[in-house]
Amino acid sequence: MALNVVFLGPPGSGKGTQAERLAGSRGLWHVSTGAILRACVRDGFGPDGTAGNPELVRQTAAILKAGQLVPDDLMMVLIREALAAVPAGSSGWLLDGFPRTAPQAEGLISLLAELGSDEPVVLEIFVPNEEIVRRLSGRLTCSTCGHVTAAGLAVEGDPCRVCDGHLAMREDDRPETVRNRLAVFREKTRPAKDVLAARYRFERIDGLGSPNDVTQRIASVLAAAG
Ligand code: AMP
Repeated sequence: MALNVVFLGPPGSGKGTQAERLAGSRGLWHVSTGAILRACVRDGFGPDGTAGNPELVRQTAAILKAGQLVPDDLMMVLIREALAAVPAGSSGWLLDGFPRTAPQAEGLISLLAELGSDEPVVLEIFVPNEEIVRRLSGRLTCSTCGHVTAAGLAVEGDPCRVCDGHLAMREDDRPETVRNRLAVFREKTRPAKDVLAARYRFERIDGLGSPNDVTQRIASVLAAAG
C-alpha cells in the first residue's frame, strides 16, 4: 500500500522542511502547491497550466504577493494535474500546501475516491502563533531550489548550501504579508482540517523544538500508523 500524506500547518510551522525530509526519506512524490504556483508565475503559466493568459499570471502573482488564496476552482485543476503526474509505482505522495480551504478539502476527498488512491494520513504540525511570527520574520529561501534557512543563520545574498543559488527573503515573508497569511490560515485553512480529520486518519504533531525533534515525532507517528 502506498504511503500518502497530507501535511497541514500554518506558514512557519516547519511544514515545508519536514515535507522535504519525509518525501526524501520515504521516496514520496512531493507536491508543494506554493512551489508550483511560484514556478507558474515565474514561467508565465496560469495555475491551471494554461499559457498565453498574461492577465491570469498577473493576478496569480498579486495573490501570492498579498498572501491571499488562489481561487479553489483553479487549485482543483492544479492538484488534479499534480496527482496525475505521480509516477506509477512510486511509494506514495505527499501534499504540502493543499488543501487550504474546506471546498478544496471536499474536492480532494472526491478526487481521491475517483482516482482510487490509497487513503492519506493527515499530519498537522502545530506551532503557537507567537513562535510562528518569530520564525517567519527573517527566514531566507533559496530563489533557485526553495531550501529554507532559519533567521540569524545567514543574510540575504548568501549562497545556498544545497544548490548553486542564493538566499533571499520571500516576497510574502515580509511582516505585513505574514500577518495576512496567518489570518487567512485561521479563517480558511482550519475548516479544511476539520473536513479531512472527519474522513481520514488525523495526527497532530508538536512542531516546537528543533527540526530533528519534529522529524523524529513524525517518524514515530507514521511507524505507529503501520
Ligand atoms: P506556500 O509556499 O505553501 O506558503 O504557498 C505560498 C502561496 O501560494 C500562498 O500564500 C497562497 O497565495 C498560494 N497557495 C499555495 N497553496 C495554495 C492553495 N492550496 N490554495 C490557494 N492558494 C495557495
